[in-house]
Amino acid sequence: MRFELPTATRSSVEACIADQFDGLYSGPVVGSPRFRGGQIAADAALNRFDVTGYRDGRNQVLPIADRRASGLSPYIRHGLLSLPEVWSAVEHGPSDDVRAFRQELLWQEYARHWYARLGSATASPLRHDPQASRPGSGWDRMLPCLDAAVDELETDGWLVNQARMWLASDWGVRNQLDWRTGEDRFFTHLLDGSRAANRLGWQWTVGVGSSRQYGFARDQVQRRAPELCRSCPHAAACPLEDYPDDQPMVPVDWPTEVDQRGPREVVTYQSPEAVWLTAESLGASDPAMVAHPDLPVVFVFDQPLLARLQLSAKRLIFLLETLAEMAELRHLEVYLGDPVEVLTGRAVAVTHAPVPGFVQRSQGIGPAEIHPWPWLVPDHDGSVRSFSAWSKKLRP
Ligand SMILES: Cc1cc2nc3c(=O)[nH]c(=O)nc-3n(C[C@H](O)[C@H](O)[C@H](O)COP(=O)(O)OP(=O)(O)OC[C@H]3O[C@@H](n4cnc5c(N)ncnc54)[C@H](O)[C@@H]3O)c2cc1C
Repeated sequence: MRFELPTATRSSVEACIADQFDGLYSGPVVGSPRFRGGQIAADAALNRFDVTGYRDGRNQVLPIADRRASGLSPYIRHGLLSLPEVWSAVEHGPSDDVRAFRQELLWQEYARHWYARLGSATASPLRHDPQASRPGSGWDRMLPCLDAAVDELETDGWLVNQARMWLASDWGVRNQLDWRTGEDRFFTHLLDGSRAANRLGWQWTVGVGSSRQYGFARDQVQRRAPELCRSCPHAAACPLEDYPDDQPMVPVDWPTEVDQRGPREVVTYQSPEAVWLTAESLGASDPAMVAHPDLPVVFVFDQPLLARLQLSAKRLIFLLETLAEMAELRHLEVYLGDPVEVLTGRAVAVTHAPVPGFVQRSQGIGPAEIHPWPWLVPDHDGSVRSFSAWSKKLRP
């Protein structure tokens, strides 16, 4: 079904989601108070970002004024900002901060290579399998440190890295709950939620994909969000006083790798008559869109996928704001349906997305032209077994 795009205002976009997406989202139809979708907001966030103080302040949780994390992740996630562009944007900052920030961009690049090379195997433990998972499905919201983080996740759709590690560790290490359920909880809400970075973050924190488990205890809250401990009614008998014991795990074999990194050059089978945009690449610099400035652009909200995932409405609002703004500049058709059914028979140009969902749908559609993904490190063939193994190949 093709539908009329709303104007690019928050209220019109929220009304459109409520009208057109019934049964396809969870939670109230309210956008993130902190992030707006669209290229204008992405460019403004990058212009505003000052890398000074990043190295020491990126892990600060509270007070908000002391945070030095960039908050660029929702825009990076959906290709509104590419990693090469963000990498260049900080070049005049203090060298220690630039180095620390670029290291994190490399973690994002690594997550994408890791996912492209492992695909759906990343849904299972890659290095260690927990021997038992307890039943349960939540964080203890009586504790202000956990409550504040869950509240920010569910309201803003975003958390600083440190708070993600606290929640993931509390879930999977201290309480020994199934990490996949926790990963799904994050994915439902995070505006930057990607299976690549989210699964990597969970596998790494909980220890199923890394060499050790990350323990979360009161000490980190006292350092990174001291006001939460000061006001905590449980401060005299904090249940997080001690670091948790590691949970027992057994080693597992590394899975068979695939390669979904895509072509390195443009591949043309026939002349395209439209550009297909995916949620991985919604920016003005999408290579297929740039190559064909006069062609109409098509985006398909994947109805069967949305019905299954039940993402928070915030995530859909972010995407629709981006599309509504784009429609002011390009001829844009937006559909709600199965992308393979909607696009089969149309000669579309597309930018490869290094994720299994794209590869599978693209095989069904058979694009007329495929543009390479804009990698930060395009020719990296080193091991993805760990970030340190992978990043060795980056050093001269
Ligand atoms: C359990 C867990 C789940 C996570 N889920 C996601 C997710 O779904 N999507 C996502 O983009 N990131 C995820 N991360 C990584 C990281 O927490 C976020 O990228 C970061 O907090 C985003 O905020 P920022 O843009 O202010 O980051 P900054 O600190 O300003 O970093 C700049 C950019 O570098 C990249 N980056 C920073 N840290 C990491 C990291 N540890 N791994 C990969 N990339 C990184 C991101 O693209 C980020 O936007 C997760 C981490 C953990 C521990």
